[in-house]
Amino acid sequence: MLRKLDYGEADRIFTLLTRTHGKVGAIAKGARRPESKLGPSLELYGHVDVLLAKGRGDLDVVAQVQRVPGYRIEGDMERMAHAALIAELSERVCEDRHPVDGVYELAVLSLDELSRESDPRRASAYFLMTALDLLGYAPQLSACVSCERALEAKPAAFSAEAGGFLDERCALPGMPLVPLATIKVLRLMASGDLDTYRRLKLDATLMGSIEGVLTAQLEHHLDRRLKSLQFIHAMVPSPRRGEG
Ligand SMILES: [Zn+2]
Repeated sequence: MLRKLDYGEADRIFTLLTRTHGKVGAIAKGARRPESKLGPSLELYGHVDVLLAKGRGDLDVVAQVQRVPGYRIEGDMERMAHAALIAELSERVCEDRHPVDGVYELAVLSLDELSRESDPRRASAYFLMTALDLLGYAPQLSACVSCERALEAKPAAFSAEAGGFLDERCALPGMPLVPLATIKVLRLMASGDLDTYRRLKLDATLMGSIEGVLTAQLEHHLDRRLKSLQFIHAMVPSPRRGEG
């Protein structure tokens, strides 16, 4: 469940991310009435099993819905803001009624991780890295993007325009350097080793630096900025961003 919109007197329109049909718009008639059978299961960012009927026009009609047991995104504003980012990006990369390989599974995994993680930023950063990879926009992390020499074990400049890190020879004077710790965590995330990632100690400075690289890379490839990302930035003052 990516998005919801109140409609008419008691209806609600949802944007659903589905396993087999990509992004689907559906109306739940009477969902806002207290006695509605549909309403309680249709939570924003929730994971549901839904039966859709063909409607008039572009919208399907929600015939039956059941919550899938498991995660529940609730509580603090920060967690909801990161859920909104996962939803917005998933929605952006999916076309209507056309699945993009892996996006549904990634969204479900990430929302589940988000609901269990004590620091929502960790789950959201992992999602961003994996989403970049799915889209073919993952930053190059092991070799200089300009000369292809292997990166040495030291801080390096990052350029979203170039799509990765630059070694000393190729970085322009004055480009801010991204700490080695950040580059190492990014490599671990890119390897898909979620178990090890979960056990890493990431302080706020390191987290901010990781987010800086990932969001610079993401925003370089999107034609419009993500609203939810701007909201998160406004909410959590992040340290200097590592973009070139
Ligand atoms: Zn180079």
